[in-house]
Formats: sequence, structure tokens, C-alpha cells
Amino acid sequence: MPQTTGTRSIGVVVAEHIALGAVEGGRIAGSVVSYAAEGGAAADTLRGVPSEELVQRLADEIKALAEVEPVTAVGLAFPGIIRNGVIEDSPNLQQLKGFFMETAMRAALTERGIEAKIAISNDADVVASGIAAMHGRLDKLVRVWTLGNGIGYGRYPAGDGVWEGGHMVVSLDPNENFCGCGGRGHLEGIMGHRAMRLRFLDMEPEEVFAAAKTGEDPRCSEFAILWHRALAAATASSIHMSGAGKFYITGPNARFVNLPFLNRCVQEMVKMSPLQGYVFEIVPRSDEVAVIGAAVNAMMR
Ligand SMILES: [Zn+2]
Repeated sequence: MPQTTGTRSIGVVVAEHIALGAVEGGRIAGSVVSYAAEGGAAADTLRGVPSEELVQRLADEIKALAEVEPVTAVGLAFPGIIRNGVIEDSPNLQQLKGFFMETAMRAALTERGIEAKIAISNDADVVASGIAAMHGRLDKLVRVWTLGNGIGYGRYPAGDGVWEGGHMVVSLDPNENFCGCGGRGHLEGIMGHRAMRLRFLDMEPEEVFAAAKTGEDPRCSEFAILWHRALAAATASSIHMSGAGKFYITGPNARFVNLPFLNRCVQEMVKMSPLQGYVFEIVPRSDEVAVIGAAVNAMMR
């Protein structure tokens, strides 16, 4: 258990926008500062920013938040594959590929008089850590599906591994090729917002799910079933690999989830009796949860 009282930590999440906040006692102290870098989505405007310049900008923001109080931990989260403080790959922020973020951030913070524990995490994993902290589940395995443009699979506690669960293969149909990574049959290629817009060029995802509900368009009804079965299949794979437990679902497209139907789909896929104790819960996505999670991961170092 991290010590979460009487210490000030800072969480920073660089995803579709930048959010950061000070965390005290497992809660946000003050409010989360959230902004899209210079207008527009952060990922778009940050794409051209050299890695070292991004580090300096973030370190300035952290210094401003720290004010004069000592900071014990600084946690930062980025999209992509992150291991041992290195961003191994980040499709949306290509310049960060191979970047030693932890080393660079430590140097930038030291220059600003901040000596703290530092953790660099995946942005889906910090949502899991934040939920674990806010729901009092820091002693349990927490898994979170974040349903947005991409499909995030977050795990708490942070462990060694890659955990690119959004790219789990859930279909052997070679025509399933809408995933942003280019891989065929991927969960994100079925469930991701961008992938749905590519599949239904003439309809928005909202319209697809509305039409599926009324049953007026068989193409939409069939897709809504596929969408749920894809999430069930990926969840079943996670259960078969890591055991049963609680799965949270969050993100903008959690609104399309029909929980009773999703549960029925998983029941068809998971039959072994020791694996039956799984539960889904839909929780709202907020910057607060991710910022707290980023700080929690740093506190646990
Ligand atoms: Zn993929």
C-alpha cells in the first residue's frame, strides 16, 4: 500500500489532451488542470514537438503545480508501450518512440529543484490504478477497458509485460482490418470509434447503435452483437490468462454497452468453474481518475 496521507504527489496524463493535478491523501488537491496544447487535440499539436522540448514543458507545468511544497512522487502517463521508464512505441506521438522518458524527466525536475520518485506509465494502466485507489481496491487485481477512439486495456497493479489488450485478436476473419495499428482481427478494429466510422462510412456510431436498438437495420443489429461479442472474447481471454475478478468499463463509448447482453456473451465463453467470479462495472471516465492513478503508480515505486 502506498502512503497516501500527508504527502503531495503530482500526476500528469498526456493522452487526447493533457491533464495534471496535485494529489494528497489519494485525492486531487485543488483541481485538475486540463488543456489541449495550444488549441486542438494534444496528440495533434504535440506530434511536432521534439521529445526534449516536451519534457521541458511538462517539467515547467509540474514545477508550477508543486509550488513551494515538497513533492514525494511524480507520475506521468503516455499512450503506447512503456517499459522501465522507456517509451518503446507510441503510435500517436511518434517522436517519443525509444525515448528514455524517466531519465529525461528526472534530469529536468532535478534542474527545477524537485527530487521525487518518478514513474512513467501507460495511459490505460493509470485509469486502473486510479480506480483501484478510489474504490479501495489497491490490494486486488483491477482491469479496465477504456472504450474510445482506441481501446485501452489497463491493469493494476502495474506489472512487467506489454498488456496491449486492445489489440487482442478476437476474429479470424481476414476482412477485419480496421484497427489503427494495421493488424487484422483486433478488438480495436471492431470496437474503436475510429474503426466504427471506417466500417460505417455513412453512419456515426451513435446512429448505428440507435438503429440496432430498434432493429430497423439488420446490418446495425448484427454489428452491435459483434461489438459485444468482441469485448466478451477479449475479457474471456483475460480471464483465462489471469483469472476472474472485476472488470471496469469506462471511456466515451461505455454508453453503448448493454451489460446484461455482455454478461451473457461472456458466460458462453467462460465455462470452467474456478473462473466464474467475474463482474463488470461501468464507471465514468474522468481526468481525475487517471491523474490520481499516475500519482499512485509513482508513489508505489
Ligand atoms: Zn491493432
